[in-house]
Amino acid sequence: EFVAGHDPEVSAATAAYKDPSKSIRVRINDLMERMSLSEKIGQMTQIDRSRATTDVMSNYCIGSVLSVSDSVPGQKPGDRTPHNFSSRKWIMTINKLQEAALATRLGIPMLYAIDAVHGHNYAYRSTIFPHNVGLGATRDPQLVKRIGAATALEARATGVRYVFSPTIAVCRDPRWGRCYESYSEDPALVKLMTETMIAGLEGDIPPNYSIKGVPFVETGHRTKVAACAKHFVGDGGTSGGVDRGNAEMPWKELATVHLPPYSTAILKGVASVMLSYSSWNGQKMHANRRLVTGLLKTRLKFRGFVISDFDGIDKIKDANYSYSVEAGISAGIDMVMTPYEFRKFIRTLTYQVEKGIIPMTRIDDAVARILRVKFTMGLFENPYADVEMGSQLGSEEHRELAREAVRKSLVLLKNDDTGRRGPSLPLPKYGAKILVAGTHANNLGYQCGGWTMQWQGQSGNNITQGTTILSAIASTVDPSTEVLYSVDPSAELIELGNFSHAIVVVGEVPYAEFDGDNGNLTIPEPGLTTISNVCDRVVSCVVVLVSGRPLVLEPHLLSKIHALVAAWLPGTEGQGVADLLFGDWPFTGRLPRTWFKRVVLLPINVGDRNYLPLFPFGFGLT
Ligand code: BGC
Repeated sequence: EFVAGHDPEVSAATAAYKDPSKSIRVRINDLMERMSLSEKIGQMTQIDRSRATTDVMSNYCIGSVLSVSDSVPGQKPGDRTPHNFSSRKWIMTINKLQEAALATRLGIPMLYAIDAVHGHNYAYRSTIFPHNVGLGATRDPQLVKRIGAATALEARATGVRYVFSPTIAVCRDPRWGRCYESYSEDPALVKLMTETMIAGLEGDIPPNYSIKGVPFVETGHRTKVAACAKHFVGDGGTSGGVDRGNAEMPWKELATVHLPPYSTAILKGVASVMLSYSSWNGQKMHANRRLVTGLLKTRLKFRGFVISDFDGIDKIKDANYSYSVEAGISAGIDMVMTPYEFRKFIRTLTYQVEKGIIPMTRIDDAVARILRVKFTMGLFENPYADVEMGSQLGSEEHRELAREAVRKSLVLLKNDDTGRRGPSLPLPKYGAKILVAGTHANNLGYQCGGWTMQWQGQSGNNITQGTTILSAIASTVDPSTEVLYSVDPSAELIELGNFSHAIVVVGEVPYAEFDGDNGNLTIPEPGLTTISNVCDRVVSCVVVLVSGRPLVLEPHLLSKIHALVAAWLPGTEGQGVADLLFGDWPFTGRLPRTWFKRVVLLPINVGDRNYLPLFPFGFGLT
């Protein structure tokens, strides 16, 4: 199916699209003139790594491959033993697929993608940063930029070039299972972090680099990745905080609360935008042409590509596949993430284009956008992963950065004076006797939360490398201080122990997406009981709450806690928590969300009329 005027056999080596000195527009046009319909639809298809054989890559001219947690090269799902992990293995796997992509008629490189939402979180030994809610608490956009850059380096260390990050949802209801992926309930704070996270991941846009006046991603630097702002739009505003639910709100609210971070992302040249599974006033975002094509692409001048969510096309309408494909592609989806049966997707779309149901101009728009990202990020010139970068994964420098982020993300909610001793925090390092208790004190998996090694997160200390809060405490105190640890200490142990202080670390157990939807938001047991058991019996009781969101704090519970710290989901560097507890570093974090009083009063957000929080947005003792 060669296009008239081009004989690739003759012109391939000298083709304009292969010439980096040509403008990107010229290169796109040249390449697209040479492409057949099936090559174009192949570029629009992203398949899961487990289905990506070299044959599939070359037969379908597949545009992108996705590693979900159970298709990460060299890691087995549910494997809880330390992995004999090798970033070299990833790189070799990815390079092999790339080789197959490059061996196709036109040699279009594929884009390898992963969810790297708090660091390169599926790679064993990577640095796991605090989840976005914690980054919101830092109020430090430059720190977030450095985290983006470190995440890009760690992703590149395994050959990954495309990350599904950042989530720029404005979470308005903490009952939502993805609230911790959101920087804040406040659109202005989300905008601030969106701007620097994208700059960190993709690199800054060089001055004067724009297409028709709109700046566009320049990710040519070898250490950068293509980013993805998600999930367009209103994912954080569904009624009751239901994941994949319905955002029932007038246009004005959608436009002023949920949309603003997208304008920022576009100005920062974000390479792609992922659509939300959710609906707006009953209409699925995956089929909303007015918002995807009309608003995002036309009015906001987004020049990157729009990607569906996982199986997003399949979910448009059950039992009517051709309708779903037609509605999704017509709405403006450019790349389809892991259609349930990718061959069926390709067949269906091909038929619809051949029959004129979907115009060729729509396909060309999609392919031009995908190619534009691939050209601008230098993928044609630099398609292979770089083995040299392996040492970036979990490097000392990145762990130090994550520790800094933890320090800046903790929010001190309460710090009572306990008699002559003064405030409960900071704790003494010398000559003290400290009890450490709670399910979350010595559990790296809990500390990291969802999207860590596994989609739903994991439990335990051998999930990857890092420092638990307990081990950080133990290595922070002077040898003259005795630290005793018991997950759930008995009354006798506490009373006979004669402790000067206790640190109780409890919270939520990891979850991701809809599994985390939660209508009661209480501190899960045995956490509540441990707090009471310990705090009723010691002079100074410090509670560290590890959670993705504010949880219910009943007055009678709060009154027995002397010092309360919201640690969010801090990640692998538990040392950052100990740094603050023992006063090596001051508390500076401020609430990125309103701490609600009671669940029945949700949603409650800063700026509401009748704003009656337990702790207001922005609160944080120093
Ligand atoms: C999530 C996305 C994620 C995708 C790929 C979906 O279930 O909604 O945020 O990027 O899976 O793993």
